[in-house]
Amino acid sequence: MQRATEVNCFFACNHQRNIIIMKNFVEIAVIGGGVIGTAITYYLAKAGFDVCLIERNGIAEGTSGRCDGRVIVYDQVPGESCRLAKMSLDLFPQLPDELGFDIGWSQEGTLLLMESEAEYQIAESHCKCMAETGLPYKMLDYHQVHSEEPGLAENVVGGLSVSCDGSVNPMALAQGFEYQAVKQGATVYSNTNVLDIKSNRSNTVDHIITDQGTIRVKKIINAAGSWAGAIGQMVNLSIPIKPRQGQLIVTERTFPVSGQPVSEFGYIVTRLEQNDYQREVTPVMEKYGIAFALEPTNANNFLIGTSRCFTGFDLTSNKELLTAMAKRAIRFYPGLRDIHVIRSYAGLRPYAPDHLPIISDTEIEGFYIAAGHEGNGISMAPITGELIANMIGNIPQRIDIDPFRWQRFSSPKEVDNA
Ligand SMILES: Cc1cc2nc3c(=O)[nH]c(=O)nc-3n(C[C@H](O)[C@H](O)[C@H](O)COP(=O)(O)OP(=O)(O)OC[C@H]3O[C@@H](n4cnc5c(N)ncnc54)[C@H](O)[C@@H]3O)c2cc1C
Repeated sequence: MQRATEVNCFFACNHQRNIIIMKNFVEIAVIGGGVIGTAITYYLAKAGFDVCLIERNGIAEGTSGRCDGRVIVYDQVPGESCRLAKMSLDLFPQLPDELGFDIGWSQEGTLLLMESEAEYQIAESHCKCMAETGLPYKMLDYHQVHSEEPGLAENVVGGLSVSCDGSVNPMALAQGFEYQAVKQGATVYSNTNVLDIKSNRSNTVDHIITDQGTIRVKKIINAAGSWAGAIGQMVNLSIPIKPRQGQLIVTERTFPVSGQPVSEFGYIVTRLEQNDYQREVTPVMEKYGIAFALEPTNANNFLIGTSRCFTGFDLTSNKELLTAMAKRAIRFYPGLRDIHVIRSYAGLRPYAPDHLPIISDTEIEGFYIAAGHEGNGISMAPITGELIANMIGNIPQRIDIDPFRWQRFSSPKEVDNA
């Protein structure tokens, strides 16, 4: 099995090429080399299509290299998105063998923490509802959660365990998809910026103009994440995806504060029906949409998040935000107070107004969109690849894809409940 480090070296050499010679024609071009674009390229190549991937930088240098690597259902509420997330999660265990690549997959579950009796009661009914859909949700009372997590603040009242969740190395995931896609015959053009798309008289995509040359195509998949809107404009589609910034703290290597990924349940409450529920957070935490999440890495340091705000394409770290995020983490694990931060970074979640990804054909013949996965792109990459490959191959889908169709934004009513 290829390890990410060996292949990184291979990619680094590849990306240093100065001269890129593009083919004259390819049947399908995928634009964007994040987890979504690489997954689609892999599933299309596996299905036997003549496919290329075009990425203006290196693989996973967009949001897929600036995020956590959780593969989760815990942040879902019952419905289509939850089904999609679970179907995707179920594809992960076989991916390391299928791709012949070490993607850092592990399935350690998620522990959600409740900080008040009110949250605990909401968690109990949420747990029952999710368990009824067949998901492994289980409540932990005060004693259970504190014996599992000795470092917890004393006044955390309980926990909710979601044992099916997992984690990957998101960069290795994208590289793994790329590695196996190339083995199956796909071509990858990195350091190649898409400048324009031209259609023919019958409104069918015809060719792509890049800074490395022009390539004729039959079909294009727009998998440009937060930049999907700019690609859409090239064919006169107004795609309402915008960047929703998230920042993360990386701590030094330290004692195991927690052995498992943990998040606060309070943030999920804000996504449930009980919209009148108020978390006990400061105005600064509210302003930056801060919710506690902690992910241990194999090297024994921690990623601490999260934040959610609209700041355009800004990737700079913000001290006020990071301080508030650290305070929120210390509220749940007081021992974190003594641990150093070694760095922080920001990424841009591709946000769609109704929080559902767009996985769809469009009114432009041959132009498809696979973008807008917001905080679930890592989790939903494999299923997105499968759905697009089925769509193009006219193979029946395993799930109703109507909720993810682009056409929902063509109707006059647009939802914006961020
Ligand atoms: C802080 C943070 C934490 C997160 N944690 C998680 C998590 O734990 N689990 C999870 O499932 N999701 C998580 N996410 C969300 C996840 O990272 C994204 O949903 C996912 O990375 C989006 O992948 P993508 O391929 O759509 O976009 P990207 O990875 O951004 O890829 C799009 C690519 O398109 C390229 N591109 C753009 N324009 C052009 C052009 N003109 N020509 C050529 N190429 C172009 C870009 O360079 C970029 O590489 C997190 C996000 C953030 C910010």
